[in-house]
Amino acid sequence: LSLPETEKTGNRVTVFVRVRPISKKEKEADSRCCVTIVNPRDVYLTEFVNPNGYLRLKRIRRRHFTFDACFPDSATQQEVYSTTTSELVEGVLQGRNGTVFCYGATGAGKTYTMLGTVESPGVMVLAINDLFGKIKTRSCDGNYAVHLSYLEVYNETVRDLISPGRPLVLREDKQGIVAAGLTQYRVYSTDEVMILLQQGNHNRTTEPTRANETSSRSHAVLQVVVEYQVRDAAMNIIKNVGKLSLVDLAGSERALATDQITLRSLEGANINRSLLALSSCINALVDGKKHIPYRNSKLTQLLKDSLGGTCSTVMIANISPSSLSSGETQNTLHWADRAK
Ligand code: ADP
Ligand code: MG
Repeated sequence: LSLPETEKTGNRVTVFVRVRPISKKEKEADSRCCVTIVNPRDVYLTEFVNPNGYLRLKRIRRRHFTFDACFPDSATQQEVYSTTTSELVEGVLQGRNGTVFCYGATGAGKTYTMLGTVESPGVMVLAINDLFGKIKTRSCDGNYAVHLSYLEVYNETVRDLISPGRPLVLREDKQGIVAAGLTQYRVYSTDEVMILLQQGNHNRTTEPTRANETSSRSHAVLQVVVEYQVRDAAMNIIKNVGKLSLVDLAGSERALATDQITLRSLEGANINRSLLALSSCINALVDGKKHIPYRNSKLTQLLKDSLGGTCSTVMIANISPSSLSSGETQNTLHWADRAK
């Protein structure tokens, strides 16, 4: 029996779009808003041209995309968390793995969405908070443990963001692929998590030319492992182990200007390697392919047990509303469209 070609048999990836508010800089540059969310699922991207260097931009085309949900710039961190990730947290308590990615150009709002600020914590913190809340309302005889690890993949090198030091080697063991020596930090409450993650984010590799600014080439991966004991109807103890991976991906923009030194181009190529490898894996999964090319990059090796199979995968595509970024926005929306 052969299925019609249009019918997808692969894993479903849930795909969301989040538009960030227009920035002061974009406003001052007299840019136009080129993103319109017309209903909770549909987004339009308007392309403008600037004929003869004229100040007024002329509208030439509107492209339409449909996703599982589109968040306007007024969406709160809590709304984004509840719609995209809370279901995965429930799955983790039942012993399943799940992964959430933020994808988009540098400055599009990935880190804001994932980490957020102390006043407006993002998906990482809200997920852990929700996890503790859920554990506490259920009777599990206090038999649970939550461990965090936070690492960076930069230039195909893996580093611990909680205890920074030498690069970590990936090893294959009984549990799958692990980063040898990676800190597994046991957390007992949400309060300590924000500080820990902010510090970790601070340890991400910075641009040599712009100290203190996080490199757009760095992927940050937070993994939360939950061991949770429950009793079934016959009062037998069942131990569930689930893992939630929350990934702030490197900037998806094209390679940098040609005046960059060779090492930089190499780094650029490696970033492309991890992002390209991730794209190939996701495309292979949604197309229902048997072979998923996890081995092509460090990022996909690390996420091997958290993509595909019974795992849930969520993609949040972050975009700027400004016409200054419409090229990047278009690339991001096309990429996200392909991941569906
Ligand atoms: P990225 O990680 O994709 O490079 P950031 O998350 O650092 O981008 O966002 C760029 C800037 O925009 C930051 O100053 C951030 O605080 C701000 N920002 C992004 N998204 C939002 C949002 N939804 N609401 C308010 N500010 C935002
Ligand atoms: Mg960032």
